[in-house]
Amino acid sequence: MKILLTGGAGFVGSHLAESLLNDGHELIVVDNLITGSKENILHLEANPGFRFIEGSILDYKLMLKLVTECDSIYHLAAAVGVKFVIDNPLDSLITNVRGTEIIFELAHIFHKKVFFASSSEVYGKDAVAPFKEDDDRVMGSVSKSRWGYAFAKGFDEFLAVAYAQEKKLPIVIGRLFNICGPRQSHNYGMVIPRFVQQALNNQPITIYGDGKQIRSFTYIDYVVNAIKVLMDNPQAFGQLFNIGNSKFISIGELAQKIKQICQSDSEIVYIPYSQVYGDNFEDMFYRVPDTSKFEKLTGFNPRIDLDQMLKTIIDYHRGS
Ligand code: UDP
Repeated sequence: MKILLTGGAGFVGSHLAESLLNDGHELIVVDNLITGSKENILHLEANPGFRFIEGSILDYKLMLKLVTECDSIYHLAAAVGVKFVIDNPLDSLITNVRGTEIIFELAHIFHKKVFFASSSEVYGKDAVAPFKEDDDRVMGSVSKSRWGYAFAKGFDEFLAVAYAQEKKLPIVIGRLFNICGPRQSHNYGMVIPRFVQQALNNQPITIYGDGKQIRSFTYIDYVVNAIKVLMDNPQAFGQLFNIGNSKFISIGELAQKIKQICQSDSEIVYIPYSQVYGDNFEDMFYRVPDTSKFEKLTGFNPRIDLDQMLKTIIDYHRGS
């Protein structure tokens, strides 16, 4: 099969690209290299089935050409990372709304199967964990630019479902929770690569807020398989699925764990959110998925031990 993968030079995209190529597919990766990087996909270039195009999902002509060439689409391209989205609110909104509209419209016109990568951000700020796909949502105020990302991804989800219902577009939506693994950059907020880098360099480990906020982390290999399994299951089309791990940890405990595994002398410091993200920032306190819908359909279960994930990531950052 010939697959178009948008955002394929990012952390998740590059792992998905590798896996799809290993499955024997032909692959066109399109990425604007803003948060993605060429380095993430250098090792794929020797594969004859792989083609990389530096370009934007906002480029309608380019997307038209690529969509007509492929059999199916994995749409991962987006402005991502809490820090990036706060620093670039307008570009983030335009990419995440207009870019996605273009992909869905073309997929509809040429009737291509689509996987759409949404985000656990859509659950908003007051959600009661664990989050279920049909839960109601409360979003923060417009003055808090973080929520623009959640609104954009939320709009994309409505659009996907409307295309599925009205136009019979075969589209499946995965809500990705915090993912970790090799190649994840520490530049745009992501907490695990940041803490690991800090611990390995014996620099202060920077907890934002009081460290009581809760997250659940999923290893990248599991996420890649989950995405492929959904795309291969016709019963998944027109539906939303949480992709994540129901086991959770506080950010304070995560910092201790990483420090201990790295045998680091780093001090653990607490930094007010305002110092990092400005005055108008609001964090999500909980972010934990209910994964039963996904598990029921696919029989898949993450079964990933956080310590094991962290050890693998730490070895990667050590260069071993
Ligand atoms: N965080 C932190 N220190 C850092 C980076 C992030 O304490 O150096 C916190 C952040 O405020 C959030 C959690 O870790 O509460 C997860 O952050 P990340 O940006 O990885 O993901 P998200 O906020 O999207 O869940």
